[in-house]
Amino acid sequence: MQSFALIRPHTLAAARQRVLANPEQRLLRAGGLDLLDRMKEGLETPDELVELSSLQGELGQQLRALESTATGLTIGALVTLAQLAQLAQHDDLNTRNIGHAALRQAAASAATPGIRNLATLGGNLLQRPRCWYFRSADLHCLKKGGSACLAITGENKYHAILGGGPSFIVHPSTLASALLALDARVEIAGETTRIIPIAELFVSPKTDPKREHILAPGELLTRVLLPAPGPAARSAYAVAKEKQSHDWPLAEAVVNLSLEAGVIKSVRVVLGHVAPVPWRSAEAEAALTGQKPGAALFARAAAAALAPARPLKHNAYKIPLAQGLLREALHRAADLPLPE
Ligand SMILES: Cc1cc2nc3c(=O)[nH]c(=O)nc-3n(C[C@H](O)[C@H](O)[C@H](O)COP(=O)(O)OP(=O)(O)OC[C@H]3O[C@@H](n4cnc5c(N)ncnc54)[C@H](O)[C@@H]3O)c2cc1C
Repeated sequence: MQSFALIRPHTLAAARQRVLANPEQRLLRAGGLDLLDRMKEGLETPDELVELSSLQGELGQQLRALESTATGLTIGALVTLAQLAQLAQHDDLNTRNIGHAALRQAAASAATPGIRNLATLGGNLLQRPRCWYFRSADLHCLKKGGSACLAITGENKYHAILGGGPSFIVHPSTLASALLALDARVEIAGETTRIIPIAELFVSPKTDPKREHILAPGELLTRVLLPAPGPAARSAYAVAKEKQSHDWPLAEAVVNLSLEAGVIKSVRVVLGHVAPVPWRSAEAEAALTGQKPGAALFARAAAAALAPARPLKHNAYKIPLAQGLLREALHRAADLPLPE
């Protein structure tokens, strides 16, 4: 690995100045897990890493804060996955976090306890894909300026079945799927500060195959804002992996629903690790809205969610897998027993 300097700025202006002086060579570091992997893999050769944990003042506090108010939950970008996994134990949140359960479950499922202690919310959302063609410095895939996605004709067991093309990566972030289902917004600080729906953070390869998010060099993701769940809101996260720990998901499903008078009044359905962006299923949501929850309805919604799937040679198994996960998440969110 090439040697680099670790810069510890105290202000946003100083951090931006370092990065903007040479955007190709200067990278922000949060927990550093994904970043150091990319450096060891030879994908990045920065001359400076700009340490986010050194930021001070109001911004420094915001980056670390996990605050619950009447209007919702505000989570700083440096809050770790371990902290999110313990949301239920947070004093303020005990009584109102059933609606945010999917976020807690997603954070608790990711990676390993050791990784969760270091990995941050911001770094998790902005980590680069795990595709083995992208991660190999020797291969010139589409994401690195090549002419084609090598997964199309190659080993594509872990790749996209929905929304793929021209690149077939799957979005790597577990928290992204949960936060999209929970209708999160993200705050971005740069020359100005803006707040956008989290769906607008992600970039489809159809728009630009080289990037996964809209942040410009020197921009910081500072906070994630979650609306307070309604009294009848319930959410759930379900995942399948090859190994129970130290592994990435094969597929994920997140459901956030509200019941009223025995029917589903509103619902958001998101699938993870099946598409290049966290995949909101309009088909499943349409099938569920206004209906009485139950196993037959959930099976129909799961079939509808995967109807647009276009698997590659080695990943058709993800269709029944994602359907089963969605059915599981729906049962858990609706508080119904899982069928045998
Ligand atoms: C064995 C293993 C299993 C894993 N399993 C999972 C899993 O199941 N689900 C999952 O989601 N992840 C999984 N991961 C990935 C892990 O969660 C991420 O690597 C980690 O969350 C990255 O966070 P970080 O704080 O270390 O980010 P960093 O590596 O510091 O940053 C990642 C990227 O984001 C940028 N960045 C970071 N923070 C900001 C910010 N606030 N503003 C602007 N840019 C920023 C950095 O410049 C960098 O490009 C796994 C990793 C391992 C090693």
